[in-house]
Amino acid sequence: MNFEQFSFEPGIVAGIRTAGYTTPTPIQEKAIPLVLAGRDVLGLAQTGTGKTAAFVLPILQRLATGPSRRTRALIVAPTRELAEQIHQTIIDLGKGVRVKSVSIYGGVGKGPQASALRRGAEIVVACPGRLLDHIGDGGVDLSHVEVLVLDEADRMCDMGFLPDIRLILKHLPAQRQTLFFSATMPKDIRSLASSILKNPATVQIGMNAPVETVSHALYPTPDGLKTKLLLAMLKQTVTGRVLIFTRTKHRAKNLAQDLEKHSYRVSALQGNMTQNRRQDAINGFRDGKYDILVATDIASRGIDVQEISHVINFDMPNTVDAYTHRIGRTGRASQTGEAFTFTGQADETMVREIEQVLGARIERRKLPDFDYSSFASESPARQGRPGRTREQQSPRTYSRTRKGSDRVVNAREPSGQQPARRHTGGESSYAPVRRPQQRRQFAASSAKRTW
Ligand code: AMP
Repeated sequence: MNFEQFSFEPGIVAGIRTAGYTTPTPIQEKAIPLVLAGRDVLGLAQTGTGKTAAFVLPILQRLATGPSRRTRALIVAPTRELAEQIHQTIIDLGKGVRVKSVSIYGGVGKGPQASALRRGAEIVVACPGRLLDHIGDGGVDLSHVEVLVLDEADRMCDMGFLPDIRLILKHLPAQRQTLFFSATMPKDIRSLASSILKNPATVQIGMNAPVETVSHALYPTPDGLKTKLLLAMLKQTVTGRVLIFTRTKHRAKNLAQDLEKHSYRVSALQGNMTQNRRQDAINGFRDGKYDILVATDIASRGIDVQEISHVINFDMPNTVDAYTHRIGRTGRASQTGEAFTFTGQADETMVREIEQVLGARIERRKLPDFDYSSFASESPARQGRPGRTREQQSPRTYSRTRKGSDRVVNAREPSGQQPARRHTGGESSYAPVRRPQQRRQFAASSAKRTW
């Protein structure tokens, strides 16, 4: 199967070729014909499956002809990063057609967005809050929208955007095509979907379980030892880009500072940063200025960086859905990746829930040659987790938690024994992350595509 079967405009075919896509992903194979046929679609797809192009390509095809300079497609996404990523995909795939996209989100000035809207764009990619601001200002006219996309609807619901979505819907024509994407289907999402979709075709890809190209491992550890464990792990493991998640903004900031002190090329990505600094962090991570990004959940949506070899959950996420989305940042487009999660006794319930979704027990690992008895020397205050007793952080937690499992999910041994990339001084003198031979091996395994 290839893209020719969809009979896209030559300009779109050129965009697909430039993006390097040769074979449609399963969701593209299923959804594109339905969207081209004008059907409403309920897409149950996890992140990393190629769902953005599954709706962007047929939208470009529709908009390549017909009226221009008015908003004909509206794509609503939960975070600025995701909105920016979708906008960028439209630019990349739509280079050969005369279709304009504008991205609308908070945290940056409204003026340039208002000017772009005035100049006229056929596609608006927006986060709900800022879009409502522009609607309130009379700066955007949604009365000609032919296609509405709600992307990561479950996340929008988690973030409390449901009332905003309902308000936005009031400004759209009833006669339109609606595409609704969600990784999970909790009750309120199901009811939103059924209230706005007309006779939808359902496309379901790998519902709920995180991408299969990722191998998972748990590293039971007391909270006070996490930073040391992370540093030892980075030293021992051959990595590409590493994305680390913390529970809070402060922990992200502190951990990034700690890693920087150890000469890693690292940036934080958290909600207290201005939009410009957040974008700089993502761009720097994508372009190789930073090897490590320490992020909070909110910031994780929309990080589309191909070479993330490892996602490390420094803190356990609060929901299975958040775990799915976090680890969906690696193993993208069928490349391989590893997801390591630092766990404590308090995380056992969440571990069980994740294992249920994965349908298998996750391997518990102990980092070789790491002194787990040294936990007392690291200040828990620096770790920023108040309210945990000394007892909860005792080494007994570790040994008790790690007992039990010997079954492995996608078992892969931790890779070689080469330190992760560090900078050796000035901005431009980057030291390589792996020995050349190891790097080649990694590149070969990451280049593997199954589509
Ligand atoms: P998404 O799930 O839309 O975030 O896409 C995940 C990644 O897959 C992105 O980096 C896309 O550029 C990439 N991708 C999407 N479609 C294809 C395809 N047909 N072939 C190869 N890579 C793709």
